[in-house]
Amino acid sequence: MATGVTWDSKLSAVAGSSASKIEKAFGYRTVGELLGHYPRRYVDKGAVSDLGHLTLDEHITFVARVVKSTLKSYPDRRRGGMAYRLEVVVATERDRLALTFFDKKKHLAEWRAKTIVEGTTGLFSGKVGRFRDDWQLANPQTKIFGAGDEDQADAALAEFESMPDLLTIYPATSTVQSWQLEEAIKLALEMLVEVPDVLPDAVRREHGLLEARQALEWIHRPDSWEQKGAAEKRLRFDEAFVTQTALAQRRASLEALDATPRTGRDEGLLDRFDERLPFTLTAGQQAVSEEVLHDLAAGHPMHRLLQGEVGSGKTVVALRAMLRVVDSGGQAALLAPTEVLAQQHARSITAMLGDLAAGGMLGGDAEATQVALLTGSTGTTARREVLSDIQVGNAGIVVGTHALLEDKVRFLDLGLVVVDEQHRFGVEQRAALTDKAGDAPPHVLVMTATPIPRTVAMTVFGDLETSTLTELPQGRAPIQTNVVPLRDQPAWFDRVWARLREEVDSGRQCYVVCPRIDDTAKGDEELPDTDEAPATSLAAVAEVAPMLEAGPLHGLRIEQMHGRLAPDDKDRIMRSFAAGEVDVLVSTTVIEVGVDVGNATAMVILDADRFGVSQLHQMRGRVGRGGHPGLCLLVTNAEDGSPARERLAAVAGTTDGFELSRLDLEYRREGDVLGTSQSGKRSGLKLLSVIRHEDVIADARAVAEQVVADDPSLAKHPALLAQIERLRETEQADYLEKA
Ligand code: ADP
Ligand code: MG
Repeated sequence: MATGVTWDSKLSAVAGSSASKIEKAFGYRTVGELLGHYPRRYVDKGAVSDLGHLTLDEHITFVARVVKSTLKSYPDRRRGGMAYRLEVVVATERDRLALTFFDKKKHLAEWRAKTIVEGTTGLFSGKVGRFRDDWQLANPQTKIFGAGDEDQADAALAEFESMPDLLTIYPATSTVQSWQLEEAIKLALEMLVEVPDVLPDAVRREHGLLEARQALEWIHRPDSWEQKGAAEKRLRFDEAFVTQTALAQRRASLEALDATPRTGRDEGLLDRFDERLPFTLTAGQQAVSEEVLHDLAAGHPMHRLLQGEVGSGKTVVALRAMLRVVDSGGQAALLAPTEVLAQQHARSITAMLGDLAAGGMLGGDAEATQVALLTGSTGTTARREVLSDIQVGNAGIVVGTHALLEDKVRFLDLGLVVVDEQHRFGVEQRAALTDKAGDAPPHVLVMTATPIPRTVAMTVFGDLETSTLTELPQGRAPIQTNVVPLRDQPAWFDRVWARLREEVDSGRQCYVVCPRIDDTAKGDEELPDTDEAPATSLAAVAEVAPMLEAGPLHGLRIEQMHGRLAPDDKDRIMRSFAAGEVDVLVSTTVIEVGVDVGNATAMVILDADRFGVSQLHQMRGRVGRGGHPGLCLLVTNAEDGSPARERLAAVAGTTDGFELSRLDLEYRREGDVLGTSQSGKRSGLKLLSVIRHEDVIADARAVAEQVVADDPSLAKHPALLAQIERLRETEQADYLEKA
């Protein structure tokens, strides 16, 4: 062996001329990053079969030579454009079999055709199907040995014989082939001088885990399923442990920060507000309020996640915290995800406070403060005034959208940031607001109505304390949800509108939700990625509203609501809906979060299958808020028995948000959970699933807490520290910075 390489050595040390291709394809720059490229699949050599007797749906793996390979293109009727099909015939000494590979993208099809050429030998693995009276394998997993012509077939077979018992198939791309990765990885394993070990030895033994080098070797070159399993167990624990240590460090450093304690005072705004509250707080609201006020009084910044069902009354808890801060001479900011919601918050907070919000005005209470609203559409003059009120401290409570994050917004003394509906806010945005507080960081309260399962809370929100409101205030009526399957029962469409008319006749109001605004664009929200109906056939606000006006809901007062309306119009329409001047609001998902109109009792969601579970749950939370029973009709064209229909049935079946959020996770990909899929960055988690590996995360968290408590700077754990730094540097772990 020549000189060795280290974890941080340049990729070129082991990948030679393939290095730049590999970096381009996967972003790996070091040997360590390359070694984190685990096989996507393992194939048992012992299970390799011949092609003698095939049965339908049997899963087979075999070695064969490509005797024919033809690339065909054909018009794709469903999606438009062209699609591609590589028709391959492979042969063993006795038998032949047809393989077909389908590709939607031309460059992928061409790459495949270049890889699977006549004369090459490969390992193929897939499920036996039939096509025109003949056996065929569609899209089998493939591993081509060497790159060869016919002469090399024997050499390829010899190569196959000499391979370990479990064959590995690596994630590859059209520019980097599996074998190139395999070679580089093999060399890296041989040359690597030392494998960084993040885990204290005692912990490793206590949890029955492999040594670091062994694990790395066995994940890439196992001889048995047991070895592969043991390697995964160790490496998975490492992932959880590194993440949890980073989070534990953050928690510890937050606790070490100083924040201004906000202890309030007797007979201040909070006391006066409590006196005039028209209802009594639920036991849950009281308990959570206590926790929050306790945190505010402490000398280090609060970082608390307040989760609670739609309608559980989170706002009042937040408002009490804001008043406590104002009572302590500070300011509080409430950050809302949409203009509609910011306006509504400003309106309802002002209303709840009454003369307590009339600070500086004639007749205002002596203690009174001001509530300021700042959004992207605040006019120039008003804006100047608002900015100055914020800067000189007149505005004790500032409600706004992203506009609050701009540089020009300066607070006199920002003591508390409340973020409503957390899942819509990015990391940087929250950080920007936090920065506005100057030297002492503000307290932060994050509210969400999408309950977060424990594992996700631990990983994604690892440094937030969590409070949960489990009960709904009294007088909240149950919501009945029904699926309306138009495919099976087209006549029910008329029933839906008749039902809405009944609601309106008895003095109530209704929402009709559509996935799109009009023909030209999708709705306000990104739609779940389903391959079903083309977007243009989905219900659109601009089409549904006139259709209802002219037809089934003729004579009712109908308005349209969507994200492309001017902010003033949005506000005007929401106001008139809240005032009961509109019977039916035809809207996109802009009304999804937080909109609170007590007299609205029915909601019809058109093309409901286009929305996610949590989103549907959120939306239906808009009805049944005012003590009248709520009705939610999920209208769909999806087929009976389809996953979409199952999802809708699940939503109709329960109003338990926790249950639904668990369900939602099953339908979503891991990246969505970690918030990384949109940014296109990888999460850095390869073997660990925040959904499936709850115990691993819990174990790792306990160990991490202990390690950080004993050694906060990790001076005694250099390998662990280095791994955390690498994780941060590669920016693969945005979620670490989430809070
Ligand atoms: P969410 O948790 O969904 O944000 P809100 O804070 O908007 O819920 O509260 C929903 C409605 O319930 C509001 O109109 C609010 O005034 C009312 N509310 C809050 N707490 C109580 C309570 N303890 N008793 C009765 N009504 C309440
Ligand atoms: Mg709310």
